[in-house]
Amino acid sequence: MEKEYEEEAGKIYCANCVHCKLLRTQNGSNQYQLRVRCAAGMWKKKLGEEKFYKYFTVARRSLDTCDYYEPMGETKAFIKDLKKTLPIKDELYAESY
Ligand code: SF4
Repeated sequence: MEKEYEEEAGKIYCANCVHCKLLRTQNGSNQYQLRVRCAAGMWKKKLGEEKFYKYFTVARRSLDTCDYYEPMGETKAFIKDLKKTLPIKDELYAESY
């Protein structure tokens, strides 16, 4: 079922949407980087391929409206907390086994 939400501030933050998923992309042996994807398929490159964004930029992904937005909680508090914990650049992480 399609829904359309508009947040009070007039902005939707993808980071607060249930469809915004965190994933790891391998970068050399035993290293990975964090990316986010829209599981509803809304992020696309010009030629139609799926687009991933660097995790540290996730708080910048905002829209005026989205038919598939499903909020996970109160936006303002969520984004404020997220900004405190996000890395400031595209970090490389080591796999731990
Ligand atoms: S469904 Fe819409 S609001 Fe949710 S992550 Fe995708 S583009 Fe963002």
